[in-house]
Amino acid sequence: MQGMMMEMPLRIIEILKYAAECHPGAEIVSRRCEGDLHRETYAQAYARSAQLAHGLARLGVSAGDRVATLAWNGYRHFELYYAISGMGAVCHTINPRLSAEQMLYIIQHAGDQVICVDLTFVPILEALAKAHPEEMRLAQTHENGRQIVVMTDRAHMPDSDLDLLCYEELLDGQPETYDWPVLPEDTAAGLCYTSGTTGHPKGALYTHRSTVLHALFLSVTVPRSLHEGARILPVVPMFHVNSWGLPYAAPIVGASLIMPGGALDGASIFDLMESEQVTASWGVPTVWLGLGAEAEKRGAVPSALDQLVIGGSAAPRSMIEFFETRGVDVCHAWGMTEMSPVGTHGQLSHHMKDKPFEEQMVIKSRQGRRVFGVEMKISDEDGKTLPQDGEAVGELYVRGNSVIAGYFNNEEASQEAFDDAGWFGTGDVASIDPDGFLYVQDRAKDLIKSGGEWISSIDLENIAMAHPKVASCAVIAIPHPKWDERPLLVVAPVSPEDPPKLEDIHEMMLEHVAKWQLPDAMECVEALPLTATGKVSKLTLRKRFDGYVLPDAG
Ligand code: ADP
Repeated sequence: MQGMMMEMPLRIIEILKYAAECHPGAEIVSRRCEGDLHRETYAQAYARSAQLAHGLARLGVSAGDRVATLAWNGYRHFELYYAISGMGAVCHTINPRLSAEQMLYIIQHAGDQVICVDLTFVPILEALAKAHPEEMRLAQTHENGRQIVVMTDRAHMPDSDLDLLCYEELLDGQPETYDWPVLPEDTAAGLCYTSGTTGHPKGALYTHRSTVLHALFLSVTVPRSLHEGARILPVVPMFHVNSWGLPYAAPIVGASLIMPGGALDGASIFDLMESEQVTASWGVPTVWLGLGAEAEKRGAVPSALDQLVIGGSAAPRSMIEFFETRGVDVCHAWGMTEMSPVGTHGQLSHHMKDKPFEEQMVIKSRQGRRVFGVEMKISDEDGKTLPQDGEAVGELYVRGNSVIAGYFNNEEASQEAFDDAGWFGTGDVASIDPDGFLYVQDRAKDLIKSGGEWISSIDLENIAMAHPKVASCAVIAIPHPKWDERPLLVVAPVSPEDPPKLEDIHEMMLEHVAKWQLPDAMECVEALPLTATGKVSKLTLRKRFDGYVLPDAG
């Protein structure tokens, strides 16, 4: 029997309309490229998004067109998210840390017609246009090429050889209301490319429905960060996987967004957290190394900080303990670009809260339970589903309304990504325990295969990170004539003159892993190379140590 309820398509713009009407006290605070701090309410952001939509329409943007952004976290970027999707176009966020070659590839692959750029990143477009004038084909009009809008006012417009439009002029004098079209909820709304550690970047094309549902899933699963009156600082960039959905989830619950712009070092983040009384902040582990060092220097954590959500790569236990012992709850999350991105969250379940601190930390260094709306399974090499008993280890597959159904205009990659039952293969190797906690052992390609057994690079890194002389580290596989592969520990020491001793790290490791899993050697580097999303780039490290000969392998 058919139910008898209204059916209204889920639309992203409804989120901002709701916040404008129902959360008048919440705000967006932005550290701007122009150097000052800017404040606006969600009502102001809604009115300006309407003006922006009119302005974009005047540039010739219509439904289905791709409008790109190349920008830090800030209120204009937020307005672009809503105006572009609201009018039925697609917001393509470009990661400024991509190589020129990758950026050119995705601009062409996406077919971006307008590129909205922060002042900081104008030189990137200038260089691209100079090196590849044909491929970039820039012009003031839609028919003749791509248009560039600089996200600033007239007074701050840069001198440039390029034909640049001014964001604030686009809005000036436009009506503060817009007749937002009622779109089918599976209309494309956002486009984000993976950082392409193997081959070309691949595009995840989010819909209105997936984006709204993902925001709701987040709101119900991470309430300690997401609630009315909260003040959230997304360090995770809006240029990669929609800042993990915060620009959509925060307005729903009535939380304020504190946007850091480009100042992402520990001291700047600390200052902003303090002056804006930030209650929660989300980002990748590398960012929290900086904040942790700053907190140590100042002898305290930011005074209102209540929760950190750490994800994107494994959060080392020493980092979790550092913040937990200073009164900050750490929620370890796991996800992927292809999942909008959040798949799990590390909130302890109720019955775990009485466990001793040590045990809680072990649980918290796992990747947590699935968020509502995402299903997970682990499979063996033959595709057989394995038990979720905390013992069986296999490839992790996911499905749900916030998971991609294929890659944008990429038939080949789409065909390889799913199993026969239609689940998406994450490429991660993991176990799931009876409490539903995910334990990611490694990316399949980062596991170290030694004598027919596997060694988890994440496990070894987590232990080494706890050594006081280790600032950051990574473990990579080095070919070995007898064992196939053996682990090499690459360390960036706190002080280059006083590096840690491998024997001491071995000793720490022996408390947790078997002797045969210990790294065969250690090499020190000044700093570890990072990917465009701020994770340690093992690809670069593997290239750097190509041909490395381990002590007993000569
Ligand atoms: P890319 O870095 O290519 O853009 P994503 O940002 O989508 O890709 O990264 C997704 C991958 O990051 C996951 O498949 C997983 O390997 C890793 N990852 C994300 N969160 C965690 C976590 N909490 N622990 C371990 N690995 C993680």
